[in-house]
Amino acid sequence: MFALYSPKLFIMAGTVNWLIVDLNSYFASVEQELVPELRGQAIVIVPIETDNACCIAASYQAKAYGIKTGFNLPDAKIACPHLFVVQARPRLYVEYHHKIIEAIERCVPVQSVMSCDEFACQLIGKERNLVRATEIAYAIKREIRTVGTTLRCSIGLAPNRLLAKIAGDMQKPDGLMIFEQRTRIPFGPPPPLEEFDDPADNERAIRARVRRAEGRREQYRKPKRA
Ligand SMILES: [Mg+2]
Repeated sequence: MFALYSPKLFIMAGTVNWLIVDLNSYFASVEQELVPELRGQAIVIVPIETDNACCIAASYQAKAYGIKTGFNLPDAKIACPHLFVVQARPRLYVEYHHKIIEAIERCVPVQSVMSCDEFACQLIGKERNLVRATEIAYAIKREIRTVGTTLRCSIGLAPNRLLAKIAGDMQKPDGLMIFEQRTRIPFGPPPPLEEFDDPADNERAIRARVRRAEGRREQYRKPKRA
């Protein structure tokens, strides 16, 4: 067994069964793709432009100021006074969503759509070989960039979907993290949950997420690949 470390890559030799693609700052990246003036700028996406709107996405430049999804607009503007505020255009995000699925499927079939910017692919046969799986992951990144030059994704490879999801969340933006069957996963302290003042809000948010995920799973689940 060997290990290879780099800022963007962590590999242990072996096989993997699942590949999860998670687009980074998806709505904001689509807007930056469509409006070149917004590229490289701190932007947030709001559902409706009102004084007290909630930010449903933030570009990586905005995240550098500590702005996160769920911030209200006045707080975001205090954190970053030169923030660009963009009203959401869901129809376009859905269009890009379908283009991204096509891009991924040029490399490997999408087994389930987990959300508008998250996709799970089951690996079979030689795809499970770690070298091949890594090649597929980089091919997906290249194909997604043909859809939009501003689009970046984090990819997780692992023996099961949960670990692949956790792996994908560990390197953002534009990461690739691999957990192999024998890997001792380098977990540090658990990642912070969204910070709510009231712990009960945390629990409610988690329950709501689980319910949404379960609904989507039923809606999109395809038969497993042979
Ligand atoms: Mg995402």
